[in-house]
Amino acid sequence: MNLLTDDFISTTTGKISLKTLLTSSEDHQLQYAFDETQLAMLQMLASLSTVVLKPKLEELKNYLKQGVTEAQYNRALETVDLQWFDEMCFMRSTTDEDNKVFLAPVTKLFSGIECGTAPNALGLFSETTQADVICPDCTHVLNYNLHMNIKGECFGPTGATGIRGGGAISTLIAGQDLKTTILANTIAVDYFNNEREIKSPNNALMWQDPIQGDIYYAHQIGLERGLFALAYHIDFPVLDEPCVCDVCGHEASQSVKEFIRLKYMGSYGSTKKGREGNAKWWPHPYTPSITKEEGEFPVCAQDQNWQSWQNFSAYVLSQETEKSLSTPAFVVRQYRKLAVGGKVNLLIGGNIADQGSITGRVYDLYSMPEHWDNHLERVTKVIDAGLSVKDSLSQALNKMFGTGYDKNFIAGLKNTAMHQYISNAQNIVQQLLLDVDRKEARELRREALEQLKTEAKAIYTELMRKYQSDLPLFKALVKGEKILLSVNKVKT
Ligand SMILES: [Zn+2]
Repeated sequence: MNLLTDDFISTTTGKISLKTLLTSSEDHQLQYAFDETQLAMLQMLASLSTVVLKPKLEELKNYLKQGVTEAQYNRALETVDLQWFDEMCFMRSTTDEDNKVFLAPVTKLFSGIECGTAPNALGLFSETTQADVICPDCTHVLNYNLHMNIKGECFGPTGATGIRGGGAISTLIAGQDLKTTILANTIAVDYFNNEREIKSPNNALMWQDPIQGDIYYAHQIGLERGLFALAYHIDFPVLDEPCVCDVCGHEASQSVKEFIRLKYMGSYGSTKKGREGNAKWWPHPYTPSITKEEGEFPVCAQDQNWQSWQNFSAYVLSQETEKSLSTPAFVVRQYRKLAVGGKVNLLIGGNIADQGSITGRVYDLYSMPEHWDNHLERVTKVIDAGLSVKDSLSQALNKMFGTGYDKNFIAGLKNTAMHQYISNAQNIVQQLLLDVDRKEARELRREALEQLKTEAKAIYTELMRKYQSDLPLFKALVKGEKILLSVNKVKT
């Protein structure tokens, strides 16, 4: 099986090849059991499409408008050394036989399933039997996901941190169908290289030209090399036993239950050691970044209460504060440059990791109307309204600490209320953003404030009702209420 020519992509109508996906007029739907795998598949397919098409910005624009023909795909394929995309070779490198390797069940490759032995290991899905046998075709997306999206800590001391840092947020463009989604996230090679201003980066794949040295300097890593950057030697022993794959649901004549790994000893700029060695963060095209005095970092989900709307401004427009500069992911900037027109959907996904545990998942789709990028100021207004209501709610709730009650008890009350607001605001913000082309900035901000404030007030009133017979607490909440009500006075 070769990933650039053969059928390995699981869809609701069977397995298809990348060529079929990109060149046929049929609308295919991916079929993978976990949204995490689905998101990784979108990233991997768009990266593979970049390797084959290597489009310039203008060419990519045409592909998005007119599609890719079979002849174009075949011609492009002639420029690729296919052997590196064979199933036995793709994203796998070998190690000396004397090295001790680690064997683990494939279950460990699903970051939502807890099967670690560390005391703090925790997963989101409870049953490990949900995924313990997979087909050989699905090994590739799980391998890719391990390298790009899973934190090294989830494997304890034998875990490695990949080029993106693990736990980084992904923002992808979601097109009207699978084909346009993959094309919209394909990287325009000329635009990417121009931005980086690097004369001759190494573009060889890492399993073709293995990485050497303690520090992996970002400026030496070219686009194709970085898109599939390795952090482990890895292999998947294949058993001659038929299975129904727990990932794609298809029947297969062979199955895979375990994988072998050994981490590379060097460090990317995504780790503390790499940063201190001046490796710099490699600008992964699917990740928004934030530049601070200490360097450039990928944007990550912050904690369990975090929802993606809170950083939405950073995902779609550059934002500068005194202390930092946030930059949207390359694919988002590229999409604006392509000026394809029409409405656009933004897919935001990632894990919320805490040491060895995955404590949450983010998977949100934002629909943006046509010409959304002409109205970025309006997007900021909506997000800022949500954040200022959040601040006021927090300050109002802080009054409860004045009662002298147990701090943990009060903190618990506050956290629950804050979490409720942040979580309910997610839907409200997504709805409001649908109107950024139709409503003036001022009106949009007024509406955002009104709706989000109503939400915060409802949560607050509920808390007051619950504690109306607890006089100290009730009095504190009455004091706090004034702060909440004064959000309106913020200038519009
Ligand atoms: Zn499968």
